[in-house]
Amino acid sequence: MKLTLTICALGGAALLTGCGSSSVAVAPGAPIITTTNQTMNDRLARTDEEWKKALTPEQYRVLREKGTERAFTGEYWNTKDKGVYRCAGCGEELFVSDTKFDSGCGWPSFYAPKDSKVVAESGDNSHFMKRTEVLCSKCGGHLGHVFDDGPKPTSLRYCINSASLKFEAKKEEKKSGP
Ligand code: FE
Repeated sequence: MKLTLTICALGGAALLTGCGSSSVAVAPGAPIITTTNQTMNDRLARTDEEWKKALTPEQYRVLREKGTERAFTGEYWNTKDKGVYRCAGCGEELFVSDTKFDSGCGWPSFYAPKDSKVVAESGDNSHFMKRTEVLCSKCGGHLGHVFDDGPKPTSLRYCINSASLKFEAKKEEKKSGP
């Protein structure tokens, strides 16, 4: 945690583009893949105009234009409620609250996706940084980046924009019996 906080404190650029510079290795220009070799070709297809109608301007900027919300400004960076985080673009279940942790970065942070198939990764050399972009496998929406300074058991930190997510609180289970 100390390391994460140190990394997060470094430089304004990091605050604007996703904290940390130590990223999971993906070769620059490498094809977008998932761990199950699913390609992005079968993803949900929509035109830009359709996305603009379906999303808020901030969701469109982040999901479709690979934007980054400012740290500590998103809806879910400090959310501790139990539930599931769906893609704000297509509704796919991406992360669950059990894997969310306080990274100190100001963005929702998870040590793993709900399932390895629901996210895809791509090399990202923008903003003078070598990072690994995380996308929704189903709709191709930009979610954030993954870094290798996360906690156990994966040592990964999925640093995700709140604008890319839609939180759904876990419904309380009804008690059965008399
Ligand atoms: Fe999606």
